[in-house]
Amino acid sequence: MTEFTLPDMVRRIFEAEAIPADAQEMLSGPQRSLGVAVPLRRDDGALEVYPGWRVVFDTTLGPGKGGIRFHPGTDAGECAQLAFWMTIKCALMELPFGGAKGGIRVDPKALSPLEVERLARSYVRAVADVIGPDTDIPAPDVNTDARVMGWMADEFSQITRRHQPAAITGKPVCLGGSEGRTAATGQGALIALDAWLKRQDRRPEDTTIAVQGFGNAGAHFAGLAHDAGYRVVAVSDSKAAIHAAGGLDPWRLKTFKDEEKALSGAVYAGQSVKDRNGDEEIGQDALLALDVDVLALAAMQDAVTEDNAGEIRAGLVLEIANGPVTPEADRRLAEDGKVILPDVLANAGGVTVSHLEWVQSRTGDYWDADTVRERMTRRMEDAARRCYEQAEAADSTVREAAYTLAIRRIADAISSRGDRSYFCS
Ligand code: NAD
Repeated sequence: MTEFTLPDMVRRIFEAEAIPADAQEMLSGPQRSLGVAVPLRRDDGALEVYPGWRVVFDTTLGPGKGGIRFHPGTDAGECAQLAFWMTIKCALMELPFGGAKGGIRVDPKALSPLEVERLARSYVRAVADVIGPDTDIPAPDVNTDARVMGWMADEFSQITRRHQPAAITGKPVCLGGSEGRTAATGQGALIALDAWLKRQDRRPEDTTIAVQGFGNAGAHFAGLAHDAGYRVVAVSDSKAAIHAAGGLDPWRLKTFKDEEKALSGAVYAGQSVKDRNGDEEIGQDALLALDVDVLALAAMQDAVTEDNAGEIRAGLVLEIANGPVTPEADRRLAEDGKVILPDVLANAGGVTVSHLEWVQSRTGDYWDADTVRERMTRRMEDAARRCYEQAEAADSTVREAAYTLAIRRIADAISSRGDRSYFCS
């Protein structure tokens, strides 16, 4: 099992920023880690029990907030790590949330659509006592989408015998979800990228992009980047990577995947980006090593490690996935002069619109897509500006800048509640 360990960079920030000891203690590990058994009745009548978790890392700034993933590699340590990143991300974005994450160790692609529905509902029954609009608010993550959140929200309402749409975000719009949530993570990543390139006087038309991970976040990012004038020259999913030096049309690829999914009725598209129209297929590793301006990592954590960091040729790495660059690779890329726009900023569009959904679900006042996009854009642009200015002022990486801003905010809140300086002076 992966164990949660506080990154060395965070310890350095504690020291450099003279973060009070109380805050250091509070941020040294998760507040709560709940392990649950998730029973599933298979279509053939057999009962299988999968391990699941819901981890809340910190609630200083508000209720826990974070996604739920269905993945064979998930465990308690991974959930704690992801919950820590959510804590940093929500603080950086100045959202009234702490950080949480959950998951089930399962290969959902081996299940039928009805089995996935029963599994989602079973998970909610297992964690119902610890989630809710004011305590801990789940959302989609890897292999869970709006449909899965709809099942979960429905199950939670049935258990609590109350309509509680604010308990879960990322729901379908007809169940109290927000306009713009599905595209939000990709959209936010593009805003962070645009803001960075503008500071360097660089234009989308002169910028090539390769995208690892053509799922929800990666496909929307690729499509929106294409619309904005960037040249998306390669994309990959778990089955294949494709390349076209003149540029791909990501929306065409996405439509192809979506159509196949609709035709098969599957929860997960069986179809790959390996498409029917003869784009050149390259190796998955070759995509990471392409000579492009921007490498967008939108698949899973640990895509770039010490072993392959030396092969990255892109000058800028955009972390749309959570933790796609290991700390060792992070150091190596920095030594090689590469810029990384870190996950806690680059993929924060998703949680930003989740916050807007939570507000709408609590008030019953639902907004149109333009209103949601404007509010999200404002918050993303502001966070990107603060990160880039802090990085310049401190001559640090953007990741260190983002963590510094977030940790200062959480530490201030912890101190404001009363810390040892009040009692032990
Ligand atoms: P998803 O399941 O929709 O997509 C993941 C994609 O990555 C799939 O296309 C899959 O085939 C591909 N993939 C997996 N392993 C790969 C590999 N080795 N090489 C190439 N492609 C591979 O998930 P998602 O929601 O798009 O999330 C992707 C990442 O973004 C995750 O790290 C997630 O935590 C992060 N994230 C997502 C959101 C969101 O709103 N969806 C928000 C914040 C962060």
